[in-house]
Amino acid sequence: MTAVRPWHVAVLVSSGVAWIAAAWALAGTVVPDDLALPAVDVEGVFGAALVERAERYERFLYVNWALAQIAMLATLVVYARRGVRLARESAAGPVGTGMLLGMLGLAVVWLTTLPFSVAALWWDRRHGLSQAGYLHAVLGDWLALGGMFLAISIALLVVMTLARRLGPWWWIPGALALGAIAVGLVFADPYLRTGLEPAREGRVEQAYERLARAQGVAGVPLRIEKVSDVTTEANAYASGLGPSRRVVLWDTLLDGRFTEREVDVVLAHELAHQARDHVPKAVGWFALFALPGALVLSLVTRSRGGMAQPAAVPLALLAVAVLQLVATPAANVVSRRMEAEADWKALETTRDPAAARGLFRELAATSLADPSPPAWARLLLGTHPTLADRVAMAEAWAEHHGGSEPSTTEPRPQ
Ligand SMILES: [Zn+2]
Repeated sequence: MTAVRPWHVAVLVSSGVAWIAAAWALAGTVVPDDLALPAVDVEGVFGAALVERAERYERFLYVNWALAQIAMLATLVVYARRGVRLARESAAGPVGTGMLLGMLGLAVVWLTTLPFSVAALWWDRRHGLSQAGYLHAVLGDWLALGGMFLAISIALLVVMTLARRLGPWWWIPGALALGAIAVGLVFADPYLRTGLEPAREGRVEQAYERLARAQGVAGVPLRIEKVSDVTTEANAYASGLGPSRRVVLWDTLLDGRFTEREVDVVLAHELAHQARDHVPKAVGWFALFALPGALVLSLVTRSRGGMAQPAAVPLALLAVAVLQLVATPAANVVSRRMEAEADWKALETTRDPAAARGLFRELAATSLADPSPPAWARLLLGTHPTLADRVAMAEAWAEHHGGSEPSTTEPRPQ
């Protein structure tokens, strides 16, 4: 055990100060500080029958999710104990052996959680939300799975090499290196996706151009992703960095269930993610979480000789899984803050709270999403404000802009 030196304290304190300054800079939002969300009559807005159906639908998925987490952690506990033996039997050199152990661990986790993925798909098919075949569930995500194997291999290569060269202080450059890897992956993501096409409907393209100009976003192409052969759920997302930035709409948003004004709200929301740099900010948050995460990893793995030793890798996988679960509520706070900002900016751009309300109601119906899920589910799974809160924000926006009388809700398309 080495003694604590003054420079150790200096490094830790300056890291802490830099951490707080960076978090402060990343947390900025254009949502007014004094915005109070009014109470929403959930059953009145969404309909009692839909709320009840959504609650029943989500309850099964909650249990399934919790069981999958337990199965994953139990598997990793066993692997952390037994995996050490495998570390001695490889001829791939220490770093190569570590990478092999990492990939083996990922494969074991994938196999343990597969039954829960299949159960979730069965439930979605039963509710008419998914048309995907079971083979698709097993192999359909092979590209994403391959990406995970690649990411874990690169991360272990970098971390183990740094730990071998720098000793116990690897965690500071290690966290920065993990941040750099995240930048590379997020930049490449739009180029790795298949099935993205330019918008064929002139109206959508025109609305997108108009809203992009209003938000001062330039050079971000709109793409339509074909998902209607596997799901009826509707979604959209903003991705990429710099020249790879994209706004992507699922084609299920354009099949006539959503009005043009509701689609415009989605376009404005995704453009707001780009206008407010939410993708690079999310990468920044990842690096900030990675810093204490890497410190904990370096301390936890000391009993196995530290991250320089392949024998530490199975234990490191367990530690990362636990850290990820523990960090989830904080990560969800960050995500919900960005989503609320994107909603607010979409309201500022479209000035159409009635369309926003209609969109959130229709999203609850097409995804069977519970508009106000239980508190624990919000804490652990709530990446977005609840649909009830999103309706409340539309009301608050109308209030904020002097529109005390409720704006009319537009008629649904036939
Ligand atoms: Zn969003």
